[in-house]
Amino acid sequence: MTAVAATTCIAPFATVSGCDVQVPLVQGGTCTYANFDYAASAPALSAVTDRITELLPFYASVHRGAGYASRISTTAYEDARTSVSRFVGAADDQVVVFTRNTTDSLNLLASAVPGDVVVLDIEHHANLLPWKNSRIVEAADTVSETVWRLAVELQRAPAALLAVTGASNVTGEVLPIAELAELAHASGARILVDGAQLVPHRRVDLAELGVDYLAFSGHKLYAPFGAGALVGRRDWLDAAEPYLAGGGAVREVRLDHTEWACAPARHEAGTPNVLGVAALAAACDALAGFDSDAVTRHEEALCALLVDGLQTIDGVEVLRLWNDSADSVGIVTFTVDGYEPGHIASYLSAEHGIGVRDGRFCAHPLLARVGRAGGAVRASLGLGSSSDDVERLLGALRSLVENGP
Ligand code: PLP
Repeated sequence: MTAVAATTCIAPFATVSGCDVQVPLVQGGTCTYANFDYAASAPALSAVTDRITELLPFYASVHRGAGYASRISTTAYEDARTSVSRFVGAADDQVVVFTRNTTDSLNLLASAVPGDVVVLDIEHHANLLPWKNSRIVEAADTVSETVWRLAVELQRAPAALLAVTGASNVTGEVLPIAELAELAHASGARILVDGAQLVPHRRVDLAELGVDYLAFSGHKLYAPFGAGALVGRRDWLDAAEPYLAGGGAVREVRLDHTEWACAPARHEAGTPNVLGVAALAAACDALAGFDSDAVTRHEEALCALLVDGLQTIDGVEVLRLWNDSADSVGIVTFTVDGYEPGHIASYLSAEHGIGVRDGRFCAHPLLARVGRAGGAVRASLGLGSSSDDVERLLGALRSLVENGP
């Protein structure tokens, strides 16, 4: 078993709300909540809640008024663009468009892609369903073979975009993004990374990786206030029809003609979610200040503790997509022989105050592919996770398997 140095949360790097919340138990009393559901939504960093509190009195619409509150909100909104852009290492020709979440970002890009999109069959539905002209490639049993299949498809016929996940929301396995970016570019395509699960765990530098578009959600990045981002190359976004038509997306409107603004305003019509965007930026700024290697090392150690422990429990199977993939973020999905995933999740919550997710994780084809069309249980780690939490989860599962519910 891999040694974990600290019994405390990864949170020495940051304060995360919800680390010490008491939850009721079915047998009576309460216990400290053990959150294993970061991949669904991560609780707010204290830097994020501080920023929201600071900005709330000045909440106003942006770009529309000379009043003090309006000016504060406009500055916060535009400064947020700079924070997000810096956080993901955007190049000069890449703009940050604020959206509601990853799904919104991907739908926006889908409305702008001038051609076919090559996509794997293991994607979250958000990176599968929006693409209109998609060519779906079946993932293989190894990452290397999967990459090869993508290369073959990209060479077979011209595609505008390769759309891949950065890290699987089911298995946590990470794709070789820089290699895929090279492949896409060699075939004349661009690459979009669904960063919903990658960005909260790894430092992503678009320029370094050669990534053209990145989509991610604030609520998975410790900023649960309803904002997300699409960061990407300007030309397609400037050429596309506005994602939403309305005020703020225009330069000039006459009754017989509308002159649309360029991106990002072109796709941000209406009064935006200023507080959500400021929260997202605060999360980016806070995370940029951490030692990301130390965070990754700690998370890897906790993840190894969890996986090693699960493998010692009778009837537990940890799901993996690939035989040859070593790199993964802190997302572990498993089944327990003889128990419905929903039953396990309810038992962990009611009896042990442990929050996991069960189901098919908006990735039905992936679950079918790994032979778990009926669903599974997902335990995901984040900055508030601790080895104590992991031991609690393992103990609760052992007790379920050995003694019954
Ligand atoms: N992509 C991946 C890999 C995800 O895990 C999720 C959410 O779980 C999404 C996209 C969609 O994110 P959102 O619901 O924030 O739009």
